[in-house]
Amino acid sequence: MKKNYFTPISQIGEFELIKKITNNVISYQKTTKLGVGDDAAIVSFSKNKNLLVSTDMLVEGIHFDCTYTPLKHLGYKSVVVNVSDICAMNAAPTQATVSIAIPNKFSVEMIQEIYDGIKLACKNYSVDLVGGDTTATAGPLVISVNILGESLGSKLSLRSGAQNNDIVIVTGSLGAAYLGLQILEREKLIFKDSAEVQPDLKNYKYILERQLKPEARIDVIKNLKNLKVIPTSMIDISDGLSSELNHISKSSNLGIKIFIDKIPFAKETRKTAEELNIDLLVSALFGGEDYELLFTVSLADFEKIKNNPIYSPIGHISKDVNGVKLYDSSGKSVEINQNSWTAFQK
Ligand code: ADP
Ligand code: MG
Repeated sequence: MKKNYFTPISQIGEFELIKKITNNVISYQKTTKLGVGDDAAIVSFSKNKNLLVSTDMLVEGIHFDCTYTPLKHLGYKSVVVNVSDICAMNAAPTQATVSIAIPNKFSVEMIQEIYDGIKLACKNYSVDLVGGDTTATAGPLVISVNILGESLGSKLSLRSGAQNNDIVIVTGSLGAAYLGLQILEREKLIFKDSAEVQPDLKNYKYILERQLKPEARIDVIKNLKNLKVIPTSMIDISDGLSSELNHISKSSNLGIKIFIDKIPFAKETRKTAEELNIDLLVSALFGGEDYELLFTVSLADFEKIKNNPIYSPIGHISKDVNGVKLYDSSGKSVEINQNSWTAFQK
């Protein structure tokens, strides 16, 4: 029978597609301890020594726009998004390979600038660049990074380990990267209409940096280790809080209660959201690219971090609800329907 080749990918979305193509993947190696389904895979060649493996790709026109992305920042970000996936396992990055597909509009100097950013990120996160691949392409610029990592000695944190009554924590603040992107898109439109008008971006330094030059929270991983806090589950916030909460809930088979007035925002983010008339909550839940960490801890471990302002408790794991439920300050349930960021939007 002839196969039906006509299902548009946007009809099922990125996560369903990944599920379809990976659902019958077989593991042939005893050393593979965890395959598809978390921020990184876990490989173990000797007892007590785990190797983490992850990969993430940035594609021009999908993840970045060269009209407003400085090339050095682009290189930097391509490493950082991968470091963030290793951090999300409660581990530290060690080596990376970088593969790049280059359209002919890019010069030698432009590619060197991307690599200046890649090398700076490698320096800042102590990652060794150990190889890669270089090719031409008839399509857009693609940077694909493969990263390895190792545990800092404390337990690895999977998406699946959350326990009933654990406290749900986010680091730093959310929503800024999405608002930064909105400002860049707005200035691009103004620039298109009138090339003489130079973008005025000085009031948006913080949110633009969060979009163009994000950092991964290796500082958090080191701090948790020092405090002997072991997250029961963890994920990085790359696609938006909503999507990541759903991953933890599904992988751990437990519900989550979130109190929306506890979600942390920087004052610059609040100000820009007001100016652009964008709902702050939407920017945190569905914006993505904040590269903060979302994790769960036992009540005992929560005691050790509760006075540090970089950790915001936003809710708790609960077997009494299905999936992720949001509540306002009066305890009323809040419904928000919107898809998180995905590369296959209709
Ligand atoms: P993240 O947001 O942390 O980068 P993704 O949503 O991209 O994670 O991927 C979810 C899981 O599916 C990961 O474990 C990833 O390794 C795996 N995965 C994604 N795409 C593919 C693919 N094309 N083939 C095999 N595994 C994939
Ligand atoms: Mg990915």
